[in-house]
Amino acid sequence: MTQHRKTRFAPSPTGYIHLGNARTALFNRLFGQTFLLRIEDTDQERSRPEYTTALMEDLRWLKMDWDEGPASGQADQYFQSRRQAVYDRYYRQLEAQGRVYPCFCSPDDLVRSRKLQRLEGKPPRYAGTCAHLKPDEIQARLDQGLEPTLRFRVPAGRTIEFDDLVRGKQRFDTDTIGDFIIRRADGTPAFFFCNAVDDALMEVTHVLRGEDHLTNTPRQLLILEALGLRPPRYGHISLIVGEDGAPLSKRNGSRSIRELRRQGYLPLAVINLLARLGHRYTVESLQTLEQLQAGFSIDHLSRSPARFDPHQLDYWQQQAVHQADDETLWQWLNADSRSTIPPEKRAAFLALVRSNCVFPDQAAEWATILFRDEFPLTGQAREILAQTDSTFFRTALEAFQAHRNQWKSFLQTLQAQSGVKGKRLFKPLRAALTGRLDGPELPRLHELLGAEKILTRLSKWA
Ligand code: GLU
Repeated sequence: MTQHRKTRFAPSPTGYIHLGNARTALFNRLFGQTFLLRIEDTDQERSRPEYTTALMEDLRWLKMDWDEGPASGQADQYFQSRRQAVYDRYYRQLEAQGRVYPCFCSPDDLVRSRKLQRLEGKPPRYAGTCAHLKPDEIQARLDQGLEPTLRFRVPAGRTIEFDDLVRGKQRFDTDTIGDFIIRRADGTPAFFFCNAVDDALMEVTHVLRGEDHLTNTPRQLLILEALGLRPPRYGHISLIVGEDGAPLSKRNGSRSIRELRRQGYLPLAVINLLARLGHRYTVESLQTLEQLQAGFSIDHLSRSPARFDPHQLDYWQQQAVHQADDETLWQWLNADSRSTIPPEKRAAFLALVRSNCVFPDQAAEWATILFRDEFPLTGQAREILAQTDSTFFRTALEAFQAHRNQWKSFLQTLQAQSGVKGKRLFKPLRAALTGRLDGPELPRLHELLGAEKILTRLSKWA
């Protein structure tokens, strides 16, 4: 029997989620049969509750709801800041086992020591200054009021091996790993520790995370081994890079999920882009979350960096708008557009949006053009209107009065009577009717504008 896969997303609420961590969340959501959300908010200075609220909203907006986490039942247990008692219990266990020691080195001491190591050409790691303090030396420092951190004693001369889900066999020599801090001086847990302990306690079976965490993994495996807890399987996914090849950041094009939402991207567009950043799909068309889930495979994760191309995002956006159902599109429109569109024109307007718009602001322009009396003219439309003789519009007006419900007959009559055809006929018509030269097919415009508006707009230039 294959194991039930439980994955998780474990963000630190120190900012809005952006393309990079949303992709990590998505891969875990797609791979896991149960998907857990845990808030890693132990850094009291940088974590903010509004970021937790925002990230939950963003995940829900992306339709990446979690099966287990802050909204389900016992919320507290999914916030690391509220689990101190749990961590304290495991610190005591490690203390009793002699696997940890208090460290009184100040940040300045550590900086100096690292400098020295660098000068000596050694890789910087904890020099072991406090590793062998005697009980009375420890007591003397505590009596001075010094607040120690707690360090994990890394066993010497061992090789830590694990089979990374993405990168295959990994080996780390423990002699290259310095004793590391698992509890800060203020008593709160360090990342290595609570992250590993919680994955084990929450029975997470698989962890997909950024490759920047790869070197943390041997440390976390050592902690779990010392505690007798079962580690998850780890998989380290490749970084996302910008078009300049540098890791994706604000500077080279990363955007927060909030920002994308504000700009009018549809969640399905964002998900289709993210799912393909570092994961190969055999199907190239827009997929629902369920379809992306069915096609997701660890074997299709790439080891080389994934390049983010903003044009791809817009491509998926166009696909998502094109395929969105009426209700989704309606909700996606700006409130102002919704109040401008007459109910009986709603379906026809949405059909126009599907083939002509990519963002709500473009749809808003069309709502203004079609349903308001005042609408802007583009420079090109102005030019065409200036070049067109008013007799053309008078002829058009008469032809339209005769065939107000038959667009085709109207055009034929206009063509015959004005002696003008092709672009020279369509451009001035479009310019007068919509103030621009591009847009939906003319019969659809006819349907959306209605005869009265067409008459008014033609007479303006006649
Ligand atoms: N809180 C960590 C982060 O946001 C989680 C890393 C992990 O997924 O293990 O980087």
